Amino acid sequence: MAIATLLPATTAFIQRTPRMLIGAEWVEAADGQTMPLHNPATGEQLCVVPRATVDDVDRAVLAARQAFDDSSWSRTRPRERQNLLWKLADLMQRDAELLAQLECLNNGKSAAVAQAMDVQLAIDFLRYMAGWATKIEGSSVEVSVPLMPDQQFHSFIRREAVGVVGAIVAWNFPLLLACWKLGPALATGCTVVLKPADETPLTALKLAELVQEAGYPDGVFNVVTGTGITAGAALTHNPRVDKLTFTGSTAVGKEIGKIAMDNMTRVTLELGGKSPTIVMADADLGSAAAGAASAIFFNQGQVCCAGSRLYVQRKHFDNVVADIAGIANAMKLGSGLDASVDMGPLISARQQERVWRYIEMGRDSGATLACGGERFGPGYFVKPTVIVDVDQQHSLVQEEIFGPVLVAIPFDDEADALRMANDSPYGLGASIWSNDLAAVHRMIPRIKSGSVWVNCHSALDPALPFGGYKMSGVGREMGYAAIEHYTELKSVLIKL
Ligand code: NAD
Repeated sequence: MAIATLLPATTAFIQRTPRMLIGAEWVEAADGQTMPLHNPATGEQLCVVPRATVDDVDRAVLAARQAFDDSSWSRTRPRERQNLLWKLADLMQRDAELLAQLECLNNGKSAAVAQAMDVQLAIDFLRYMAGWATKIEGSSVEVSVPLMPDQQFHSFIRREAVGVVGAIVAWNFPLLLACWKLGPALATGCTVVLKPADETPLTALKLAELVQEAGYPDGVFNVVTGTGITAGAALTHNPRVDKLTFTGSTAVGKEIGKIAMDNMTRVTLELGGKSPTIVMADADLGSAAAGAASAIFFNQGQVCCAGSRLYVQRKHFDNVVADIAGIANAMKLGSGLDASVDMGPLISARQQERVWRYIEMGRDSGATLACGGERFGPGYFVKPTVIVDVDQQHSLVQEEIFGPVLVAIPFDDEADALRMANDSPYGLGASIWSNDLAAVHRMIPRIKSGSVWVNCHSALDPALPFGGYKMSGVGREMGYAAIEHYTELKSVLIKL
């Protein structure tokens, strides 16, 4: 058992009671209130952080507003924005182990995986976005202006930073999700107020330190820690915010979308999912089973695009399910600080209870558990679970569980697979496991989801837009698509 030793810097960060960054100041909540954070692997209290008030959020938005409207930031050239983002990425690389340990303690995920994936993907993404800072272009247009037929014009279209961005994120990939918002915002010249998830603000606060160290002007990046109901809602309602970008549940996303429309605030929403993994009869079944297991069990199943519905062509159904159950049964559960552990705890007692209710619902309705179906503590553990003998319309199949629970259903042919894959309110991702190129290409355009993976699942790249069809959201993160969401178009017509 190789237990990672905490860096002195990790312990020091937690022990000194982290504060929020508003403008240039590291502050407590205006009323001095705090909220406790817990280590999901033990259930013990980790530390407390400020519980931001509406006033705190308003001050953070004002700081971001002033930084956008008045400060040197608005005159920063693209090359400087590129270099600052590179600097920030370099500082994150320097502190990668510390960031990963904070993520592990705060979220429960493996420190080793957090360093190799969460932190490294965030760094790679910021470097990718740094490249866009110098490539934001408008265009010139030859116009006719029918009402002034004898006049000459020069006309062009500018692409400008959208302004103050209010970013609200979920707890499953705290640092990575924050960077998905910060990257395009800082590349385009926006300013940001980030509200991390109630449960997982630690890496956002460390990120704010690194933003300061990189040399960003005060107010360009602000972090308010607090609850969704107070701090998140205050950010959503604030009319000084030009764009809201949200990652979280579909229920909260819908509310934020409605409120955004009251102020005509630009809004992008990355929401829930119930992504299908489709295994065709001709697939390499060994890799398909391993891929399907990792598609659902990675990050304890707390992944928006987790392959939580498995469809296998009937003649191989039992074998593939047995293979996945074998993988699940061999998984070691424990603290994310133990490098030999395959699966950590869920984020909270509440999430453990929620996932447990779904498992009980399956049992009560006569479904069969091929493996798992146990929970234990201390900490918030649920064993990887595979459920069969469920109907496509069952809540287990239709609703997002957001835990290590896979529901598996057999299908007869391609049309049957497509029908069931698309029979969902969500449309975030899907994977097809097959070596039949023609079948794969027939299926790709017919799947209603923002990403389709073939012979892999949840494989992300900074250059590929990520987001959802249907109830999985509005807009895209990553790629040039993100740059479009953080900019406005301005048409200019000059009468010569
Ligand atoms: P959540 O919606 O409860 O919370 C997300 C964030 O919203 C948190 O910061 C929370 O404090 C804030 N919030 C809560 N209520 C609010 C309100 N009334 N006004 C403003 N902000 C509010 O979601 P969660 O449980 O933290 O995260 C899990 C969900 O996130 C899952 O549905 C998952 O699929 C989704 N998710 C989606 C993606 C994606 O990219 N599509 C990525 C990760 C997670």
